[in-house]
Amino acid sequence: MSPIIAAPSSANSVNRRESHPHAGVVGRFAPSPTGALHTGSLVAAIGSYLMAKHAGGDWLLRLDDLDTRRQLPGMADDIMRTLELFGLHWDGEVSRQSRYLEEYGRAFAALQQQEVVYPCSCSRREIAGSASAPHHHDDGIPYPGTCRGGINDAAVVRSWRVRVPEEEICFVDFRKGHICQKLPDVSGDFALRRGDGEFAYQLAVVVDDFLTGVNQVVRGDDLLSSTPRQIYLQRLLGYPEPEYCHLPLVTGPDGMKLSKRDYLISHQLGSVAGRERAVLLAVLRFLGLNPPRDLDGAPCGALLEWGVAHFDPSHIPTRGGVILP
Ligand code: GLU
Repeated sequence: MSPIIAAPSSANSVNRRESHPHAGVVGRFAPSPTGALHTGSLVAAIGSYLMAKHAGGDWLLRLDDLDTRRQLPGMADDIMRTLELFGLHWDGEVSRQSRYLEEYGRAFAALQQQEVVYPCSCSRREIAGSASAPHHHDDGIPYPGTCRGGINDAAVVRSWRVRVPEEEICFVDFRKGHICQKLPDVSGDFALRRGDGEFAYQLAVVVDDFLTGVNQVVRGDDLLSSTPRQIYLQRLLGYPEPEYCHLPLVTGPDGMKLSKRDYLISHQLGSVAGRERAVLLAVLRFLGLNPPRDLDGAPCGALLEWGVAHFDPSHIPTRGGVILP
């Protein structure tokens, strides 16, 4: 099947495959500017950088700024300056989800044409209360398909959902190996768009990665369970599937996943001033790398260069844990 959306060809195109005809590895880091980076997001930034650069590829930066209600002013800038502080320089222009609304609309229309999308009038509370919901997952309760058969003309459309297949969606993760998931057990028919028109992360991320030529997605384990949903959309839209590597999660000393307020790594807050090297070393060790003593005192750029040369995804530990910056 040919891709539904033609990649942009204008002068300010962000399509990396177009500007890099060798079609090498294109990785990315895609933070949401809803808070400063924390040690967990820094692991995703550094892990995705090392893996792309180790393969001789490009590393892109995308700001996932679709959810305007949760954004904090100045955060996008803070994230970019913090990355630079660590010597993490991205290739090409920074892309922003907010610039791609038209492309999301075209992908959504293409899915509607395939008759896999339907309007849903269920509220969160109704879904939470649905007696037939079989399991609870980190992703919430799988949508039980209440509106699959159609909704009342007078009903308020709260979201637009895509029908998911019964068959398993499988893929190979660089660190975790062969992964299969039955979407009805985890998400059920998931939302692509809210009733007010806002596009959902699952659709946006798939379109973004395609448009920017991303073919290697390295990110935290917390997004592992979303990947089969994204692969399903890629298959429907005829997009190529990127390779995936999900990294272990950084936790607090209590073993819990970090929140937006924990262990912030921020240029604005001056939270790493003068300690960038120590933090970078801690992250490299977390990713299974052990820089030699003769790099003691080396600047971040030199440490990263060493990391790029020695990165090996098979050395990434299976378990996450604490990084105290
Ligand atoms: N923007 C998402 C986040 O900050 C990550 C998106 C992705 O890596 O696919 O959690």
